[in-house]
This record gives sequence, structure tokens and C-alpha cells, in this order.
Amino acid sequence: MPAARETLRSWFCRPWFLAILAAALSATLLMAGSLFVAMHQVEQSESEEMNAQGERFLARLEQLFGQLRESLDDLEAQPLRGCDDEMIATLQQVSFNYRFVYEAAYMDASRICSNRPRQEGLSMTRPPDIKGPTYSYWLNTTTEPDENRAALMLGRGNFRVATSRGHLTDMVDLPPGSSLLVVLDGTRAIPVLGVSQVWPPTEPWPPKSSDALQITQSRLIYRMPTNNPEYQLVLISPRTGMHVPAAWWWLLPASLVLAVCVGFLVLLLVRQRQSLDAELSGAIRRGELQVLYQPIFDLDSRNCVGAEALLRWRRPDGTLTSPDLFIPMAENTGQIRQMTDFVLQRLLEQLGQLLRANPQLYISVNLAACDVMVPRIGQVMARLLTLHRVAAKQIAFEVTERGLIDVVVARENLQALRDVGHQVLIDDFGTGYCSLAYLQTLPVDCLKIDKAFIDALGHDAASSGVAPHIIHMAQALQLKVIAEGIEHESQAAFLSSEGVKFGQGWLFARALSAVQFIELITGGRRLAARRLDDEA
Ligand code: C2E
Ligand code: MG
Ligand code: MG
Repeated sequence: MPAARETLRSWFCRPWFLAILAAALSATLLMAGSLFVAMHQVEQSESEEMNAQGERFLARLEQLFGQLRESLDDLEAQPLRGCDDEMIATLQQVSFNYRFVYEAAYMDASRICSNRPRQEGLSMTRPPDIKGPTYSYWLNTTTEPDENRAALMLGRGNFRVATSRGHLTDMVDLPPGSSLLVVLDGTRAIPVLGVSQVWPPTEPWPPKSSDALQITQSRLIYRMPTNNPEYQLVLISPRTGMHVPAAWWWLLPASLVLAVCVGFLVLLLVRQRQSLDAELSGAIRRGELQVLYQPIFDLDSRNCVGAEALLRWRRPDGTLTSPDLFIPMAENTGQIRQMTDFVLQRLLEQLGQLLRANPQLYISVNLAACDVMVPRIGQVMARLLTLHRVAAKQIAFEVTERGLIDVVVARENLQALRDVGHQVLIDDFGTGYCSLAYLQTLPVDCLKIDKAFIDALGHDAASSGVAPHIIHMAQALQLKVIAEGIEHESQAAFLSSEGVKFGQGWLFARALSAVQFIELITGGRRLAARRLDDEA
């Protein structure tokens, strides 16, 4: 098992493997994404079409029912009864007056006469499908695919009027397999047009959503509102089939090209990273790392009270690589432990004497997450402090909120550092997830407010209130505050007025070499008018 894991690990270190994997993944994602978008568009156009069709049908049905009822009212109101020539002429006149009346008829126990005497349309005598107080309704009165045959019939007294199938279908092109249904009492569905359907449908019915249109795997069901609670109009249409749209086939080569580009980019990045990795592993040995010290000042007296140790990596070609780039890499590869040890050792070698001579001076060291997770730092530090005869209180440790992965373990190790006299600082405070309640449980002495909040002072309305908030929070918890990244006098004045005692930033000094820092301390603690610049 460990052997298999090792093989897998070695594969994941191969740039080619990672590039192919990234290309395959991005191709799959791009194609699946575009297919999803295309399908979504198909579904959207399908439902738009169905909604439009439903609305057209509804408008036509309202028109149609209106005319059928009116024509029946006219017939009922006129005095003629029976089947003479005058009646036939009246029936013909009604059919002429009302566009949607295809056939009008008179019937009593012994006679039937219609404006279309040769047709069978209205001769049937089955009981009505819907019997209202005034009108009776017969649905689907013929199943023959003849556009002229009756599809809907209304009756009042001895009169019947019917509309033709064509009057319903001329508005909407009902696709094959579709039906326009009248659902009676929610249980019986009679097709007015199209094929009959099993009712209730196999889909969960009635649907939970109140939308007129229901989209299921295989069909679209459009419910048309009616004023009558006894029946509902429903239009059912099979789905056109999820055809992959033609445009998607163009996305296929485009996705492949993009995937190749992604793969190539990953290859370049992994190679670059691996070469940086390889270079970094020898950096300490080759003496390419150096430690600089950025002074920390008392904001009121402008005396230097200490410094923060900051790593620099100067490559053989003279280029300076930012710690923001190589520290995360060293954290990933585990080289960070070696680097932290290097910083501690170098700082005591360079500043041991200065610290012994200035017992109030302190240097703070940045710790990575893995340094906080084990008690190792305390042991290394104790050995070095004894060797250089420096007090523990002169070395502080900075941890970020993100560095406190396992709070229980971290708390224990930080407490152990505090117990022997070190100070513990929370770095970049405000950028992580530390809440007031959480902060109370941590063994810390000081908060360092992140530069972003100092930058925002007086600029960004949304975040300019964050720094005072952090300051008040720290004061409530009796924690010291150090403001980071002070670049302007106005920021220093504001922070000082808010009760912040300490600060660091380019307004006072950039990161200095050990020699420059010693000169700053021994040449008088006041910074005078001289500005000190980053040695690097
Ligand atoms: P950090 O600990 O928050 O360090 C402060 C950073 O802000 C430093 O950048 C410093 O040079 C910069 N800075 C200070 N004042 C100003 C200012 O007024 N204006 C501007 N623009 N920047 C200012 P640097 O040295 O590049 O370090 C970046 C980060 O790298 C550090 O942030 C820290 O998280 C990490 N780092 C640096 N050295 C070490 C180290 O020895 N160990 C570990 N674990 N992390 C380190
Ligand atoms: Mg720091
Ligand atoms: Mg910071």
C-alpha cells in the first residue's frame, strides 16, 4: 500500500502527467459546461415555445367559447322551433354570422336538422361531458383527422352549435403526439385535440409548483387557467428530444484547443515551480538567504523598541525573490522548518550582542503553521538563547490566524513559549477568521493590524472603520497593538490618537541589514530626520 501511494505521488510530481491531467480535466469541464449550457438553452426555447403556444390556445378557446355561447343565445331567443326551411335558413345565418360556428343544429325527440344536412357531425346523441346550468358541452365529438369535423360542441335547449377542428388548429401547430385535454374533476381527461392520454399522468400530479408549465423527462405539460373549478385545460406535448445543438459541435474543437493551452501552461508552471523548488532547497546551503530587520517604533516617542526579522532570498543572478512567493512554497515542501531555524540562528549570531546590551529591545520572528504545530521551536530557541545569553523575553513569535490550523495543539505550544518568557503576536490580524470570543482563548500578547486596514484609513469608507474596531477590541482584551505598513504621517497620528502604541512601516524605516539595524540602535534611538532604506 505505501509503495502504491509512493508511485502515485511520484506521478503527481511529473510535469507531463500533470499537464495531461490538467488538459483532460479542462477539456472535460469545458465540454460538459458547454453541453450543459446548450441543453439549458434547448430547454429554455422549448418552454418558451410551449408557453407561447399555451397562451395562443387559451386566447383562441376564449374567443371560440364566447362565439359558441353567443350563437346559442341567439338561437334560443328567436321564436322558431321545428325543422322547416325557415329554421334551416336561421341555422345557416348563425353559422354565417359567427366565424367559429361550423355547424348549427336543431334537434328534438323526432327530428334533427342542421345547416350542413349531409354531415353526421351533430347527429350523435351521447350525454354531454360537462353539464352546466345553461350550456352543455360535448368534447372530442369526432376522432377522424378531418379538419372540418366537429371538435367541440355546445348545446342549449334544442340547439347545438359546433366548431371545427380546423378552428382550433389553425392558431397552433400541434406537434405529433400532443394533445389538448379538458380535465374533468381532476380525474378524467378528454382530448379536444390530439391523442388521448393516460390520466392522471405518471409524473407526480398535481405538481408542487404553481407554474403553468411543468417540464418532465419526456414531455411538457401546460396547464391553462379557467374560471370554472370543475374543469381544467391542459396541453401536453412530447419533448422534441434533447438534440445536441449544432453550435455545440463547434465548441468541441475550441474546447480541445483551450485544453491544450491549459495543459501547456500547467507544464510551464510546474517546470518553473520545480526548478524554483530545486533552487530553494539549496538556497540556505549556498548562503543565498539573508535576514533583514524592520524596526518597530513607539509611535509617541518615536523610539525604536524592536524589529521584525524578515527573510530575503537573493538568487545567484542577483534577483530578489519575495518571501510571499518562496515562503508558501517552503511551507509546502517542509523546508520552512529549516528556514525558521536559520532565521533564529542568524538573528542571534548577528544581534546577540546588541540584545544583551539592550535588554528592552526585542526581535520578532515569523512562524509558519507547521512551526506552531510541534514544540520543536521552543527547544531550538532555548538552546540558542543559552548559547548567546539572551533573555527569552527579547524574542517574540508572530503567528498568523491562518497558521492556527489545529487550535488545541497550537494553543498548547504557544502557551509553552509564553511560559518561558517569549511574547506571542498575532500577525496580519483581521485577514483571517479570528473572532473576539476565539481570540480570548488564545495565549497571545499582541495584535499586529494588517497593512490593508492601515492603508484604508481615510480612503476606503468600507474598511477604514476596521482598524479602530480592532484597536478597541485589543484594548478590551488588554492586548498590545502594533500597526503594520504605516507609510504616512497622518496614519501614524491617527493610530496614536486611537491609543496604538507601536508601529512599523516605510514611514519610519524599511527592512534593514543587521549592520544598519545595529547602527540605528547604537547611534541613538531617536530616528531623527534621517530615513533609513531597505538594504536589499
Ligand atoms: P509580514 O510578517 O506581515 O511582514 C510584513 C511585510 O510588510 C514585510 O514584507 C514588510 O517588508 C512589509 N512592509 C512593512 N512595512 C511596510 C510598508 O510601510 N509598506 C509596504 N508596502 N510594505 C511594508 P516582506 O518582507 O515581503 O514579507 C512578506 C511576508 O512574508 C511576511 O509578512 C511574512 O508573512 C512572510 N515572511 C517574511 N519572512 C518570513 C520568515 O522568516 N518566516 C516566515 N514564516 N514568514 C516570513
Ligand atoms: Mg510578520
Ligand atoms: Mg503582517
